[in-house]
Amino acid sequence: MVDVRLDKGRVAEVVPGGTLGLGDPDTTLELDDFLLLTAPADPHAHLDKALSWDAIRPPMGDLRLAIESWHAYSDQMTVDEIADRARTQALTMLAHGTTAIRSHVDLLPGPDPLRGVHALIRVRQELRGLLDLQLVTLGGYLTPTEDHEAALAAGVDLVGGAPHLAPDALIELARLLETARTHGVGVDVHTDESLDCEVTLDVLARAVVGWTAPVSAGHCVRLGTLDGPRRDEVIADVLAADLGVIANPITNLYLQGWESDVATPRGLTAVRALVDAGVRFAAGADNVRDPFNPLGRSDALETAMLLVVAGHLSVDEAYAAVSTGARDVMGLAPAGVVPGARAELLAVRGTDLVGVVATSSLDRYVIHAGRLVAFSETHTQVASPVLLPTYPEAR
Ligand SMILES: [Zn+2]
Repeated sequence: MVDVRLDKGRVAEVVPGGTLGLGDPDTTLELDDFLLLTAPADPHAHLDKALSWDAIRPPMGDLRLAIESWHAYSDQMTVDEIADRARTQALTMLAHGTTAIRSHVDLLPGPDPLRGVHALIRVRQELRGLLDLQLVTLGGYLTPTEDHEAALAAGVDLVGGAPHLAPDALIELARLLETARTHGVGVDVHTDESLDCEVTLDVLARAVVGWTAPVSAGHCVRLGTLDGPRRDEVIADVLAADLGVIANPITNLYLQGWESDVATPRGLTAVRALVDAGVRFAAGADNVRDPFNPLGRSDALETAMLLVVAGHLSVDEAYAAVSTGARDVMGLAPAGVVPGARAELLAVRGTDLVGVVATSSLDRYVIHAGRLVAFSETHTQVASPVLLPTYPEAR
């Protein structure tokens, strides 16, 4: 039990419980029976795609099928329609405790490729003060470099893409890196999102050694399929470049493995080996209720749970990946229940982290920049078994 005092968006004091005495009820939260945590951050979201499942009604299937469904739908999307879904999704994530989001945003085919960019920049402006939102360009190999540059000029923060989907992954990767280097911005690339593609993670790592701008690689599913010696070679390159790796368990467990109905492989990067090697490691949900993943609760505790059951991390390691690790990979200042840290905090009903991740109580308080920005309270009633009527004739 501790008392925590916040001041100017930071944690000012963490002292034994009862030390600070009774505070002003208007500015004091009583958190008995709650566990106070560093607030989650999601380092890999697609707010422009989120919540489109119901409108698209796509067939279930792998990454290729999801991309086809998405592209067929994207023609009819407007800035308003994208912004409405993105805002709803961001606020749901915030209500569950996520106070910082990095979203990729598609550079769309057609006459107005920046519709998604304009929508997400609008949402970022609307939600200023409630959460931090970083944006990353996401174009295909046919997307002109000028579209990435126009998105950066409009306010997008980093360059990204999906080189593994290009006919020549290394040419596309080099183009994206050159675009970022030219503009002095960071890179967050969808990397090797396949169980059998060419490995490019090591090429990316070697290319960015010495960069000061933040660089991270999302997915890295192929790494999880490599044999131990080859995997460790790639991880050594990742470490040398101080590259952040972002796993997306719920979406990749859904998208990969459709071709194998026996011993279906897990679509997951080499989670255990990356953490053991000391790589800067984070995890996000990626897609939520869109053609790339029909499900998802928009809750970082769900991602942490999957890292435990599918990635065999400890619960502490898993929660670090969706909170402190995610903030580190995103280049955000440290946060948590530590004097001097940013007051990005989540209180969840429960007494220990294993129980909190297991039960994912929706009784929560969410604090961003030292301010209470969301509060949820659930009510449950269960009938007493001794009072239930019996119906012998129905047996
Ligand atoms: Zn993604």
